[in-house]
Amino acid sequence: MKFADLGLSDELLSAVQDAGYEEPTPIQAEAIPQVQMMRDLIAIAQTGTGKTASFVLPMIDILAHGRRRALMPRSLILEPTRELAMQVAENFEKYGKNHDLKMALLIGGVQMGDQVKALNEGVDVLIATPGRLMDLFERGKILLNGCDLLVIDEADRMLDMGFIPDIEFICEKLPSQRQTLLFSATMPPPIKKLADKFLSNPKQIEVARAATTNENIAQFKVEISPRKKKQALKYLLEVDNVQTAIIFANRKTTVRDLNKDLQKSGFKSGEIHGDMDQASRIAELDLFKKGEVNILVASDVAARGLDIKGVSHVFNYDTPWHPDDYVHRIGRTGRAGAKGRAITLVTPEDREALENVEKLTKFKVPEFPWGEVAPKAGGGQAVEEQREEKPREEKKSRSRRKKDDAPKAEEAPREEVRESKPKADKPRSEKSGRKPRKKSEPKEEPVPAGEWNGPKPSFLGVGFD
Ligand code: AMP
Repeated sequence: MKFADLGLSDELLSAVQDAGYEEPTPIQAEAIPQVQMMRDLIAIAQTGTGKTASFVLPMIDILAHGRRRALMPRSLILEPTRELAMQVAENFEKYGKNHDLKMALLIGGVQMGDQVKALNEGVDVLIATPGRLMDLFERGKILLNGCDLLVIDEADRMLDMGFIPDIEFICEKLPSQRQTLLFSATMPPPIKKLADKFLSNPKQIEVARAATTNENIAQFKVEISPRKKKQALKYLLEVDNVQTAIIFANRKTTVRDLNKDLQKSGFKSGEIHGDMDQASRIAELDLFKKGEVNILVASDVAARGLDIKGVSHVFNYDTPWHPDDYVHRIGRTGRAGAKGRAITLVTPEDREALENVEKLTKFKVPEFPWGEVAPKAGGGQAVEEQREEKPREEKKSRSRRKKDDAPKAEEAPREEVRESKPKADKPRSEKSGRKPRKKSEPKEEPVPAGEWNGPKPSFLGVGFD
């Protein structure tokens, strides 16, 4: 199928061509005609499938007809996080460049002034996180009764983050005669209930889970003792030909701690988590996108759905507690046809969580293929160097933690719950005393990204401790 077969306008076809897309993805081929027919839609799809364009493209054509009015947005897209909202806004700019449409982005953590000004001037598309939208609505700065097209994106993540009551409230303020599109990676009962209540005779479509079908992502596990996790991670970062990596941890405190530790060891890393203000998150992401840091340590909420090209590796420093998060995390690599590698560190405590992942994805994650390729000179040395770590830093960061743990992020309830759990996985006895090691330069011929490039380190040889 071609984009031209979907009945999109010439202006849109030209924008799509400029974006370099040759043909619609399955979700686009299925969803676009339904949206054009003004049907309500439930689409079970996740990021990486091209789902954003599946609603943005037909919306642009629908909105091309009609007039803006002050304070009354004509359409609304709800996103669970600021980053996703920004990403959708970027999509709107990219595909809507040949149209005269006004967009406003309502996200927490940025000044309200410009947002209110844009609303006053009238917008065609409002892209918002529920918190900020409710805030402005309650202050009377926005009227929702002119909004007859609603998109609820990442509905299952909205549920995880406790946003369903806000969404119900918002739906009740919208005109009852409207078109509603709901996107979700999974359909847990509360989302089904929400759909039953607020969608009318929806067409349901489902595309294959990207992660389970994405053969471009090689997945591995490394069974490891909790106190050797940092050592194993740094070893892998050095020897698995990592070009760019996102490292996920389950707690904000671990994200901060790990990033500091990696930087001390000479890695070029940054961090992104729910406690950071918007400006700092954007700044860190920019550094990563520009390649000024090649490692981003992240929490789930902050990194959900991020579309960054060319991420060669995803590491699960902690096995995620929710199997869905595994699917979302590893989907940050292997994008747009590229190859990627996803490596999960699994402690004895994590085994059950990994089993849940395997049940969900119907895929048994194999052991990392140690020793399949001839050892490289640098690798072994790196292990020796990494043996000695820094207990003092651990203690310091623990005492700092109490203050840092205070919930701040307005949009991260689920993460807040997780990250305030007792810190059970702190390494207890990392030895120390030495100066930070500088990352060693590669000394040999480059090996293709993600091809295993070193021996099995001795610290992995004897069970879990
Ligand atoms: P999404 O699932 O919306 O997060 O999109 C994932 C990625 O696929 C984004 O980088 C899009 O720019 C890209 N994309 C969307 N539609 C297409 C298409 N038809 N062909 C190729 N890439 C696409």
